[in-house]
Amino acid sequence: MTAFQLSVVVPCFNEAEAIETFHATLLSVLEPLGDGLEICYVDDGSSDGTRLLLHGFAAADARVRYTAFSRNFGKEAAMLAGLRMSRGAAVVLMDADLQHPPELIPRMLELHRHGYDQVIPRRDRRGDGVLRNALTHTYYALVRRCMDVEVIDGSGDFRLLSRRAVDSVLLLPESNRFSKGIFSWIGFDTVSFRYRNSERAAGQSKWGSRRLLNYGIDGLLSFNNRPLRLAIYTGFWVFFSALAYALWTVVNVALNGAETPGYATLLTAVVALSGIQLMTLGVIGEYVGRIYHEAKHRPPYVVRETSETCRTPPAGPPPAGQEALGERAAGRSRTVRQFASFLLIGCVNTAVYLGVYYTLNRWMPYLAAHVVGFTVSVIGSFLLNSYITVGTRPTWRAFVRYPLSSAVNLVASGVLLYLAVTGLGMDKNLAALAAGVLVTPVSFLLARWAITSGRAAGAPQNRPAGARPERSMSRSDSL
Ligand code: UDP
Ligand code: MG
Repeated sequence: MTAFQLSVVVPCFNEAEAIETFHATLLSVLEPLGDGLEICYVDDGSSDGTRLLLHGFAAADARVRYTAFSRNFGKEAAMLAGLRMSRGAAVVLMDADLQHPPELIPRMLELHRHGYDQVIPRRDRRGDGVLRNALTHTYYALVRRCMDVEVIDGSGDFRLLSRRAVDSVLLLPESNRFSKGIFSWIGFDTVSFRYRNSERAAGQSKWGSRRLLNYGIDGLLSFNNRPLRLAIYTGFWVFFSALAYALWTVVNVALNGAETPGYATLLTAVVALSGIQLMTLGVIGEYVGRIYHEAKHRPPYVVRETSETCRTPPAGPPPAGQEALGERAAGRSRTVRQFASFLLIGCVNTAVYLGVYYTLNRWMPYLAAHVVGFTVSVIGSFLLNSYITVGTRPTWRAFVRYPLSSAVNLVASGVLLYLAVTGLGMDKNLAALAAGVLVTPVSFLLARWAITSGRAAGAPQNRPAGARPERSMSRSDSL
């Protein structure tokens, strides 16, 4: 029987702005609960001083322990490390940004005393946008149909687990972890109740759109093999359709004589079949990749220090000069990567423009088709460059600024073209190419400025102190 009644496990990544308020609030809630408590923090490779703060908490209070990773391994790894550290008869898992209210802990413990092994506070969807709500509901509908375990809308990682539930979670050896599925998979008596969703106390959410999408895919693939089954069903369906079509053709030839073979039919069949084959290969590839990943038997994280191994204050962030050098190098490689992505997206958008233009040309005047095609490609370019090139959520203000980049591109390339042809006597086609090449980096910089201006630069930890945090609601929890 463990001497600890309760362990609170808190994964933290760059939470220096929020962690002190969180810690004070948590202590004020835990104080009346008496002895036998511990708080297990996990620093998931923060670069903003979170680790130093955790060391301070542990030095001041014997009930506080921490483990710090050598780099950022992700929230799943941090939760696993926290569960491994915990020694309590009950373990509460919660975020460090006060989106999981510590005031709910007594109620969770009360329900646990009534015999429940899992107590799950479920957040409502207050404050989420309409589009976000629709996407979330669609995702859950899909998950309910596809997954072998039940994942409830609004129930995240915030929960109380009994010791036997924690031990069962720790028995699962997989390194591709999707905790929401794992918690559901272990079973035991579970109860849930609703609480009001709230915004982060400080700092920014670490879940960008791409990370969230990957997390959603992980969730879908971790707990079922239905996508593989679906690929087989689709194959069957296409095979029998093709058979029926072949029969129909034979009957048709027998009744009406031979026709000229249809080029369009052949092409459609080839394209459809290649699409299905590629999709199937992608699904199989995902599973094979996962098997490869699991077969390597890598540990899910690497520990840098713990409260037990590090009695003296740990070294802080690197000296200002070194940090600036590192940041400059990282900034340069980020710009090169962004520029490559900008160029690729430019090609995609040209194709989109041409596709829309050629299609609409049949039904409307060519100038109107040009305007629609251009508008669609600018919107597409804005969204793709926001999400992929810069890796941020698009805003209306950025959208209004964005066409400036296209306008400057048009004017500057026109001026350069004119100077090259009339001033230098260059060939017109060559001059157009040269003007385009010269102007592209400028459009890239302008497009990036339009998307990022007025936001925190780069990683959340770079945000200047006192700057207003972007509005963000819990996101990993909403999936
Ligand atoms: N977190 C973590 N590692 C990560 C990202 C997040 O340990 O790589 C922690 C983070 O510090 C917070 C919790 O996981 O305590 C939830 O993160 P966040 O608030 O960014 O997610 P959201 O609430 O937006 O889903
Ligand atoms: Mg949060």
